[in-house]
Amino acid sequence: MTNQQVSTHEKSTTPAVRVEDLHKSYGPVEVLKGVSLSAHTGDVVSLIGASGSGKSTLLRCLNLLEIPHSGRIHITGEELKLTKDRKGNPVPADAKQVDRIRTRLGMVFQQFNLWPHMTVLENIIEVPIHVLKKPRIEAIAMAEALLEKVGMAEKRHTHPAFLSGGQQQRVAIARALATQPAVMLFDEPTSALDPELVGEVLKVIRDLALSGCTMLLVTHEMAFAREVSSQVVFLHQGKIEEAGSPEQVFTSPRSERCRQFVGAMDRQH
Ligand code: ADP
Ligand code: MG
Repeated sequence: MTNQQVSTHEKSTTPAVRVEDLHKSYGPVEVLKGVSLSAHTGDVVSLIGASGSGKSTLLRCLNLLEIPHSGRIHITGEELKLTKDRKGNPVPADAKQVDRIRTRLGMVFQQFNLWPHMTVLENIIEVPIHVLKKPRIEAIAMAEALLEKVGMAEKRHTHPAFLSGGQQQRVAIARALATQPAVMLFDEPTSALDPELVGEVLKVIRDLALSGCTMLLVTHEMAFAREVSSQVVFLHQGKIEEAGSPEQVFTSPRSERCRQFVGAMDRQH
């Protein structure tokens, strides 16, 4: 076997994200009750479910914005090391690992969170230059290519306040891509947008999916999830109630709750 073949083989067998039996509580309330899922390279996994079902908590545990109480998380084959502090609260065991893992995950939130005092271009080059220590000229070249990709090249010297929500979210996506993450995490990326701006952001995400970008996507856009996902996961009260192909989850779910949820979402649109 050549090296090329070895690496292709490894890629197809080591999931980009693997979560096993994840539990997370806030105080006495357990909001993730043993969640397991995997995303392989190139997969688009959509997470759907009612508000409060634990979708954001699950995404936030992956990059340790929230620390799970038990279970295992592997990102590109590396297991996140967790331990307990003196009070018994879960904490990351290795701060350097947390930094490393976070650069492999690009996160896009419902609220765009661009830095308001920086231009579009400055927003994108900030982390590559100051965290990843990339030469400025390289960081700018990459930022410009990404802005081209999301259709925002002409606004490179504009500040976020002068952009629409859809434009800000497209910049936020470019910013997340600038660390060349192995996996993109989207948490309801279009939920804060006026309806007429949703399409331009979904188009960017669709193009990423078609280009083979691995992603976990929390969304209420059922038609979109159905179109782009390799797998759809329905969360209910902190547990995976149904998971499968878009066809299975949307057309013939085994779970009655999933059927009701999908039906109710359809009627809203
Ligand atoms: P979803 O994204 O599916 O709407 P979340 O993951 O945001 O759900 O929330 C799951 C549950 O955890 C909800 O009941 C929510 O109120 C609770 N929760 C989320 N974040 C916190 C927090 N920081 N402190 C306490 N409870 C929280
Ligand atoms: Mg949420």
